[in-house]
Amino acid sequence: MGLFDKKTCALCGASVGLLGGMLGENLADGAYMCGDCRKKCIPNENLDFKAMTVDAAKALIAVADANRKKGASEFHATRQFSSGMYADMPALDVDEDRGWFMNAAKKDGWVYALDDIYTFCLDVTTAPLAEGENYSLNLYPYPQLPVCPSGQKVIDARLKLWLLDNELGVDMLEISLIPAFAPSEEHVQSAYACAQDFYSFMKSWRMAQKQRSGR
Ligand SMILES: [Zn+2]
Repeated sequence: MGLFDKKTCALCGASVGLLGGMLGENLADGAYMCGDCRKKCIPNENLDFKAMTVDAAKALIAVADANRKKGASEFHATRQFSSGMYADMPALDVDEDRGWFMNAAKKDGWVYALDDIYTFCLDVTTAPLAEGENYSLNLYPYPQLPVCPSGQKVIDARLKLWLLDNELGVDMLEISLIPAFAPSEEHVQSAYACAQDFYSFMKSWRMAQKQRSGR
């Protein structure tokens, strides 16, 4: 096959441009996959397309389609977690009746099961305060959450959820709870409140889950 031969997507038949072919929009066995089909795949950034057969790619897209359809037609948020007291920062939408959740920050339409969360934490990054900078976070209500050492300020706060093996093959979600640019004390306070809410929710969800499964 020459460099300038026309390449077509093995899944939908669309032509894969020369650029696409060169950028590596290829699967195993010398087959190609167009950018549109690739976007339909599951939200797993670590997918190794080059090692994937056409059948495996088709199977992934089928799972992804079904998951999104399920989300669009059946998901009804009964509970929303947001760090939005001072900024519009939705974090998670939860459907307690079905035991599902979505990443509300990304609004990507993927549905995950709450029972697939095996661990989670608030991951906080701090930096030294500038000369004369005042900082008076009140983290007393949040003994389970990370402390901010004195002389430091929180510059990033993310909720991290690690997932058990799931149909989407996603092993971790990372949801930012404060704006990336110049977060204020109020932003941080709001992020902690949101994380605490989620911690409490998960605790009661798991207790109820144990009762449901009779353990
Ligand atoms: Zn295609």
